[in-house]
Amino acid sequence: MTEITCRCGATTLTLTGAPILTSSCHCQSCREAAGQLADLPGATPITDAHGATPFVLWRKDRVAVTRGAGTLRAHTLRDGGTRRAVATCCNSPMYLNFNGGHWLSLYAARFDTPPPIQMRTMLMDAEPGTVPDDGIPGARRQSARFMLKLLGAWAATGFRFFKMEPMPKLEEPQ
Ligand SMILES: [Zn+2]
Ligand SMILES: [Zn+2]
Repeated sequence: MTEITCRCGATTLTLTGAPILTSSCHCQSCREAAGQLADLPGATPITDAHGATPFVLWRKDRVAVTRGAGTLRAHTLRDGGTRRAVATCCNSPMYLNFNGGHWLSLYAARFDTPPPIQMRTMLMDAEPGTVPDDGIPGARRQSARFMLKLLGAWAATGFRFFKMEPMPKLEEPQ
């Protein structure tokens, strides 16, 4: 069992099992969202030194909000789009949730000791010169390995369909 918390400690996610994979996303949306989230009062960045966003992907049915569920608010770049859940007690982004996804992309910044990044995704969106030559494999979008690991995790849930749970928008007061 692993616990991750927001920076002030009021919001806790309890994770069971092991991550599906770890990846750092260079996509335009993650960069744009990270910029907006970093501008929230008291926030600290979720990006790495290269402007990418490191994630730890976890099966959705193995993640539980065990403290502070009421602090969570949804940040979206577009109505109905990918949701980024922010613990508004201290404006800590916690995870990204694709509509219909069977996994949550937990922000690596929330881990005391994040597991090492295994791959880089969406290099087609990376700003020139920002992708380090450090031997971590990357793909223009998602690699076959990335897709296979996600598919394997979905199979392990019995190909369950996950509905996006209701969550107030970030703009709404607590
Ligand atoms: Zn907090
Ligand atoms: Zn992204």
